[in-house]
Amino acid sequence: MIPAVMPTYARWDVAADHGEGCYLYAADGRKFLDFTTGIAVTGLGHSHPHLVKAVKEQAERLWHVSNLFHIPGQERLAQRLVDHSFADTVFFVNSGAEAVELSLKVARKYQSATGHPERYRIIGCEGSFHGRTFATLAAAGNQKYLEGFGPPMEGFDHVAFNNLNEMRAAVGPETAAILVEPVQGEGGVRAPSPGYLKALRRIADEEGVVLVYDEVQCGMGRSGKLFAHEWEGAAPDVMAIAKALGGGFPIGACLATERAAIGMTSGSHGSTFGGNPLAAAAGNAVLDVMLEPEFLPRVEAMARLLSKRLSRLVETYPRLFAELRGSGLLLGIRCVVPAADVVTRLRHEGLLTLTAGENVLRILPPLIVGEREIDEAMTILEKVAREWPA
Ligand SMILES: *Cc1c(COP(=O)(O)O)cnc(C)c1O
Repeated sequence: MIPAVMPTYARWDVAADHGEGCYLYAADGRKFLDFTTGIAVTGLGHSHPHLVKAVKEQAERLWHVSNLFHIPGQERLAQRLVDHSFADTVFFVNSGAEAVELSLKVARKYQSATGHPERYRIIGCEGSFHGRTFATLAAAGNQKYLEGFGPPMEGFDHVAFNNLNEMRAAVGPETAAILVEPVQGEGGVRAPSPGYLKALRRIADEEGVVLVYDEVQCGMGRSGKLFAHEWEGAAPDVMAIAKALGGGFPIGACLATERAAIGMTSGSHGSTFGGNPLAAAAGNAVLDVMLEPEFLPRVEAMARLLSKRLSRLVETYPRLFAELRGSGLLLGIRCVVPAADVVTRLRHEGLLTLTAGENVLRILPPLIVGEREIDEAMTILEKVAREWPA
């Protein structure tokens, strides 16, 4: 008999009950060090007091009004994102996939509004992930996720990630936009070579193509900067964010320059829930914490510490581990043994981690992680590696 919850996930034997900081507690009393953070969502850990307070206060005041009203919290959140990014304007949605979809709509609309309606094709990268809607599935082109859902939406081309020759060759007179994750998450925690984003920026400028970043996973502090592309200083025209933006409250956003958003006028897009007062309160509370001057440098320091210790682990156990990858606190270890088995063993020892493509063990600690939790995680990782059956 089909379960009441549609069975599209192979779920773990953990019934989540409550969380505090870096820890998640199961209904049966087990305690876990949570280095999955709801898949890069609970960047500030569980039940962060400032977020709890902000959402509680807003819940008592006003949850929702439509976007026919001015929503002061939404306007403030948009302004703060504008002040701390390349963007001039922001539209709020409820998920990563929606943020990517809107980013692609903005790119196509820009082309049509500037006299190039024939430019509608989007170039995406192999190994990317952009969500589970029709357009975002087509953009990523992952056959496994497209299977059985009919012909993929037309208008998407694909090139190898981190390959500029293929990208240059793929851009044509019908190309509207290039869509890329500055660091691939689901695909295997892959950071491109230095210079890749800058080169994409140049190609986009030369060819009149819109450069769209998907920072749904790598953005919002995870890289040690507010947005991962800041490490290269190569700004996009349009960017999708979500995951950690609400700290666990569902909110996403499409950020754009004034030029790229030229076609986005009254009536050109909408959302019932997007940026409602409760979501905006969560987003503003997240920014209150992340924009504190000491916050991101601390993320960077903890990321350096964790990657140093993980690379030593990889060197010590070549029988299990092949390579450390990633950026900031978006880290992956390409495994020799099945990564899913490592995730299971770690979970039984009290450390929650994830897999990613290319047999990668994905490690997403909360951005508030400290030396103590890193020590604890390393102790568990070392134990599992040491005791791995021959
Ligand atoms: C998770 C993710 C998405 C999709 O986000 P949803 O909120 O699940 O729709 C899109 N892009 C990237 C890079 C992601 O990691």
